[in-house]
Amino acid sequence: MPHTLFRHAVRRALRALLPALLAPTLGLHAQGPARPTLAVVGGRVIDGYGGPVIENGVVLIAGERIVAVGREGEVAVPNGVPVIDANGHTVMPGLIDMHVHLHIVGHGDYKRWDDLYGTRDATVVMPIAAHQLLMAGVTTARDLGARLDDILAVKRRIAAGEIPGPRLFVSGPFIQHEAYEEYEKPFRWGVNGADDARQKVQRIIDAGVDFVKLIDQDQMTDAEVAAVVETAHKNGKVVVAHAHRMDEIRVGLKHGVDDFEHTGLGTAPGYPEDILQALRERNSALYWTPTLSPLYTLYYTGSVFPERLDDPAWREFMPNAMAREVRASLSQIPHLPYYALFPSRLPLLPTKFKQLRETGVRLMIGTDAGIPAMFHNDATWREMAKFVELGVSPMETIQSATLWPARFLRREKDLGVLAPGRLADIILVKGDPLSDMTVMRDVRVVIQGGKRVK
Ligand SMILES: [Zn+2]
Repeated sequence: MPHTLFRHAVRRALRALLPALLAPTLGLHAQGPARPTLAVVGGRVIDGYGGPVIENGVVLIAGERIVAVGREGEVAVPNGVPVIDANGHTVMPGLIDMHVHLHIVGHGDYKRWDDLYGTRDATVVMPIAAHQLLMAGVTTARDLGARLDDILAVKRRIAAGEIPGPRLFVSGPFIQHEAYEEYEKPFRWGVNGADDARQKVQRIIDAGVDFVKLIDQDQMTDAEVAAVVETAHKNGKVVVAHAHRMDEIRVGLKHGVDDFEHTGLGTAPGYPEDILQALRERNSALYWTPTLSPLYTLYYTGSVFPERLDDPAWREFMPNAMAREVRASLSQIPHLPYYALFPSRLPLLPTKFKQLRETGVRLMIGTDAGIPAMFHNDATWREMAKFVELGVSPMETIQSATLWPARFLRREKDLGVLAPGRLADIILVKGDPLSDMTVMRDVRVVIQGGKRVK
């Protein structure tokens, strides 16, 4: 056989073999167009990339992934494929709430809650919180602080399809200087010295956490903070840090944490220039989850619309005794000393939020769902509505709950946008969030991994 012909033959043989060789790793992509299993037809599609919307869109799903997104007429829906009629709705990526706590469900007294339910986190409490989040359109969530074994067990059960809930990314226990009270020790691990810090961080990483949650880092030694961040980064894990106090932020910045939480509890009117300058330097490489809505929501519930507490929506999936207990605990909130500070603290938030935005840090939607009066069924849309109220465009707000979190979680290839190849995590919302973000309270359909779950 002449030399060139031989080369052709080898190439041809290789080309024929290649798909078979690659198929096991590429999955359905290598096996040609997969048979669609579900189609969402007729709604306005926001794909998450921030460009123009698609009117009368079609999202075609095969198995757990999206195979096509386009206009009706451009994307054909094969005969026999089940169709969800999306007319009158906005079709968008499932929401990603970047700050939730599944072991608490809005109760007003953490100690009493833990006494009553602390031993039933994994079996009773977390599944309720997870189910509520999913029904609110939250198909992915980041849990920032819980007992290690409990949250990992719930994460696994959701992933295995045993219980409904968002895909979970979890920190396990807080890593901090020391727990404030005895009962908190299982979910607030104090570190004592750099070696201890390294060991504890390694232990939670080996157990399976997705990242490390650091708080009160201004109360730790430099060596301890450095040990936490280095151990996390060495293992390919990011560090999420609290930002309640200015020195907490400074220490976090000094050691290169990846994401800050909250906008500060103090009464300072804004962030000082040294912090702002450091934030400008890190720009969009630094993530920030400001959790604006809890303060507003608690004040709203206590002083503006107490009737909210009698809305059956937040009790969904809760046994009656639990709902009664939560309800009773919240009657006391308006009489607590810290509540009296709210009217002076609330006006500071818009200024601080504006400052953060102007530095260019990447803002994400996170709610602290689970803390007093922040129920998992309605926390996420409240935060999104607050972003818009404080000046973020609706499209960017949606990206703060979809695309940016997916990037932060390093799961951009699976989550955060509606595009071929991505996991089919899709929600249908009645109306137009680009005109009125409060319509996000009305999520009608939830599809997770290609399966309709609401
Ligand atoms: Zn929190």
